[in-house]
Amino acid sequence: SNLIISLSFIFNNLEMQCDKKNKITTFLTKPIYDELVIVENNLFDSHMYKEVIKQYDEVSDLINLDSNIRERLKLPQRSLVVTFPFRRDEYDDVETVVGYRVQHVLSMGPTKGGIRYAPDVNLGEVTALAILMSWKSAIVGLPYGGAKGGVAIDPNPLTRAEKQRVTRRYTAELLPIIGVDKDIPAPDLGTDEQTMAWIMDTYSNFVGSPQPGIVTGKPVSLGGSITRRESTGRGAVAVGQAAMEKIGKNYKDSRVVIQGFGNVGRYAALDSYERGAKVIAVNDLGGAVFNKDGLNIPELFKHIAKNPSVKGFEGGEDYEGEILEIECDVLIPAAVGGVITSSNAEKIKTNVLIEGANSPTTLNADKILRENGVMIIPDILANAGGITASYFEWVQNTQNYLWKESELHEKLIDVMITSFEEVWTISQKQNCDLRTAALIKGIKRVAAAKLTRGLFP
Ligand code: NAD
Repeated sequence: SNLIISLSFIFNNLEMQCDKKNKITTFLTKPIYDELVIVENNLFDSHMYKEVIKQYDEVSDLINLDSNIRERLKLPQRSLVVTFPFRRDEYDDVETVVGYRVQHVLSMGPTKGGIRYAPDVNLGEVTALAILMSWKSAIVGLPYGGAKGGVAIDPNPLTRAEKQRVTRRYTAELLPIIGVDKDIPAPDLGTDEQTMAWIMDTYSNFVGSPQPGIVTGKPVSLGGSITRRESTGRGAVAVGQAAMEKIGKNYKDSRVVIQGFGNVGRYAALDSYERGAKVIAVNDLGGAVFNKDGLNIPELFKHIAKNPSVKGFEGGEDYEGEILEIECDVLIPAAVGGVITSSNAEKIKTNVLIEGANSPTTLNADKILRENGVMIIPDILANAGGITASYFEWVQNTQNYLWKESELHEKLIDVMITSFEEVWTISQKQNCDLRTAALIKGIKRVAAAKLTRGLFP
């Protein structure tokens, strides 16, 4: 682990310039060693990291968190930065790709968190997401610490063979720190069931026996959970409905707008449709589709199976405007982080915001929305259905135990609603918003685990 940490130090202090193929063209080495002694946190700095720590500091003040624990939890326990060679199908030259895996807290069980493929993935963002995973697991009471991983590459133009090569080599680089009882990856932005299957196969080949529990969110044929794919979206909508009932509103009567039609967005759309709500607009990277009377989501599923985008769906009209600004009752950002900022928060016309994506709302935007009376169901609670279903899958794999689809769904909704009720009670007692209440619950639990285990050595 010393080697791993020093690698991350070195990489943070190199400026890398990449061309369109993610090829590193320049390394500029900055003098670092004097800085290392005196600089505390900037190794992991990123916009998202700053936001996560600011939020954490505010809640730590509120709950008067032990100062030793407070500083400790700002930094991840372990972070690995890897670079590896990658050759595209139609090119002879070899590119160098950068990947990360960050484990925040190793005190409560193995670490758990997704792997994302996106061009702008960096150590600071992955660290921020790993920290959020710790709070999220704790909010829904799972025996995990938070982790996150990523590869700085645009997955969209990659062929299947290229994506497979990236995944297998990245997995090989992660071998020292992942394991069924050490750190268990899952899908995230730009990765899917197939990616998890390649990770599982690569890892199993190195270990010498099938290891289905090394990843969650894998295909059912490899021990994946039948409900994992839909759990994040459905969990988010279940919590959304419970929250709306608290303020005398009914999800069924809502007009819903969803940004992103991937794993999270499409099942949030389907669940909303099944509850009788009108999903009036959805989008993806290819464009948007709108229908004021509500889109037929099962038909849209058929459309997306044959087409690259929701755009062009016959059951609605293509929409060119900014989807987040459409007037609605429920808005579900379910694509990427940082999409609702102080520059567009005033234009958001919804009563309820369900954060399907991770960190879709900046802190400044969060404040503006709340001042405008928007009820925000925060990501760390709203999208915790993903990690909860992953936990069920991991338990099934490690125990060789199978649950029926209906049992899995029932368990998911039970965990989500119970967690929501606990967060709601905290928000009422502390007179605070749901994000603060959820963080109070999560941070307190992680801090208690760390304090109880004590110091080593
Ligand atoms: P995905 O890759 O399956 O889907 C992402 C979707 O968003 C795609 O439809 C893509 O076209 C669209 N998209 C990307 N950028 C966009 C943009 N700028 N504007 C509009 N649409 C855009 O990813 P996913 O697994 O659905 O994850 C979405 C978000 O939810 C991420 O923030 C992820 O971290 C978070 N999340 C996912 C899970 C899960 O179980 N998959 C769990 C918790 C949180």
